[in-house]
Amino acid sequence: MIELKSSEEIKKMQASGKVVSKVLKRMQLEVRPGVSTWHLDKIAEEVIRSCGAVPSFLGYGGFPGSICASVNEEVVHGIPSKTKILREGDIVGIDVGAYLDGFHADAALTIPVGKVASEAQRLLEQTQKSLNKAIELVKPGIHLGDISNMVETYATAGKLGIVRDYCGHGVGRKLHEEPCVLNYGPKGKGPILKEGMVLAIEPMLNLGGDEVEVLDNDWTVVTKDGSYSAHFEHSVAVTQNGHLILTA
Ligand code: MG
Repeated sequence: MIELKSSEEIKKMQASGKVVSKVLKRMQLEVRPGVSTWHLDKIAEEVIRSCGAVPSFLGYGGFPGSICASVNEEVVHGIPSKTKILREGDIVGIDVGAYLDGFHADAALTIPVGKVASEAQRLLEQTQKSLNKAIELVKPGIHLGDISNMVETYATAGKLGIVRDYCGHGVGRKLHEEPCVLNYGPKGKGPILKEGMVLAIEPMLNLGGDEVEVLDNDWTVVTKDGSYSAHFEHSVAVTQNGHLILTA
């Protein structure tokens, strides 16, 4: 069942979303060659707690970090580490969740480290575009599949691989709620969006093929062919006439 949120609850989720966007803004300032993903995690946790919120990911299913930091061929669920040092030309996906006053918000972006290759830059731009275009569609009466199809359309246009083993999700009192928001599929299918639904839409696109695997740490998802992967995400509420990006 897809839970509907009242406008009061959506206001609370917007407050959680503000914490998340504050962290992501700070991450854009902190990311540079020579910095470890552990450092990014510590800063992120500080910012979240300074807002009176709790990191949604810390301890979730045993996850050891406050953020996921996924470098280059890592798609999602990268574990922050002192030995993972960012180098010029890397790309790092930062995924953040914050829990405040009973509600989670969840967002991600992928940040270039210094100057990156033009192919990497193209991957980042096209993945962000696929998210933006999908969000533009969101309003009551469209099908969930319309969102999925829009991401797929931009992925295909950019000749990018689509991660099919992971999807976006509903978000609210729980970090992961129904429905699963696929990054591919036909339009006109799936549930019809209604006011009060909140979706975490999160394209994960690769410079190479679609296939991914999980590392021995049981968390980190990487592309099978070693190609770079990008991840962008926003928590988006369906409103009476359209949508509200809670993590903008
Ligand atoms: Mg998410």
